[in-house]
Amino acid sequence: VIRIVNMSGWIMWVVNGIFENIGMVQDGLQTIAQPVSVMDRPKAPTLKVHSGEIRYDGVNFNYGKERRVIDDLQLTIRPGEKIGLIGPSGAGKSTLVNLLLRLYDLDGGRITIDGQDIAQVSQESLRAQIGMITQDTSLLHRSIRDNLLYGRPNATEAELQQAIQRAKADEFIPMLSDSQGRLGLDAHVGERGVKLSGGQRQRIAIARVLLKDAPILIMDEATSALDSEVEAAIQESLETLMGGKTVIAIAHRLSTIAKMDRLVVLEKGRIAEMGSHQQLLAQGGLYARLWAHQTGGFVGES
Ligand code: ATP
Repeated sequence: VIRIVNMSGWIMWVVNGIFENIGMVQDGLQTIAQPVSVMDRPKAPTLKVHSGEIRYDGVNFNYGKERRVIDDLQLTIRPGEKIGLIGPSGAGKSTLVNLLLRLYDLDGGRITIDGQDIAQVSQESLRAQIGMITQDTSLLHRSIRDNLLYGRPNATEAELQQAIQRAKADEFIPMLSDSQGRLGLDAHVGERGVKLSGGQRQRIAIARVLLKDAPILIMDEATSALDSEVEAAIQESLETLMGGKTVIAIAHRLSTIAKMDRLVVLEKGRIAEMGSHQQLLAQGGLYARLWAHQTGGFVGES
């Protein structure tokens, strides 16, 4: 249920993005458009990102009347810092990210980017500054080219090609062919179009975000079901993507976790522990236990 709910937030965003950026809404996409629960203030200014510092300042949030899902959370992420969010299921990791995207309004506190309250700026300008790689890459039932360009419709052909190469999507895009005989970048995705594997979809998503080139990056990684060769290729593309950006990754992959500048361990909507992989292992707390669980009890690995 959580994933579906999160997913619907994402779809809503995708549809808004198309409305605003390309103005092409076809193929029944309207059916998934949903009313936006969060409203812009009248004449909301544009978010201006200079360095990419993110600050959660006394943030409280719950979905209904039950317990707080995010409980008085204080966290400053430095410009260019790469944060790994870790914690047991239901700890509030996805919620924290959804709040940064302003899919919901807060019950208390504020979130700022370079000192600007995200509730005060236009949602369009906020989301324009955030690139996102999720577990469920939503692709439009349109051409591969349209799927890549929707984050930055005015990109040049050279920029498009460069993003494709850096994401290692050039290994499969030229080979694509749909039932109408459209090839490569012009091949359509979806029911009557080409079927892409999970790894291919992820590389399209990476190329799309590379092209968008937003200063803030959110990654919600899958516990990988990809084969190790594709996994290695994607890992390389992801590292290229993260360069110079402020990154919040909901980190499931051990390979990613150990490379992050700082790990934030959430438990019941609060920060339970924070530090580097080595520091947290040495501390012997919740992270060390989660790590031992994931690595089958082998705590010494890094
Ligand atoms: P996981 O690792 O399982 O994805 P998480 O740490 O990302 O978990 P969240 O998805 O942020 O946790 O959920 C935090 C809490 O909020 C959970 O108790 C969850 O049931 C609840 N929750 C999440 N989304 C919603 C929603 N849309 N409506 C109501 N409750 C929700």
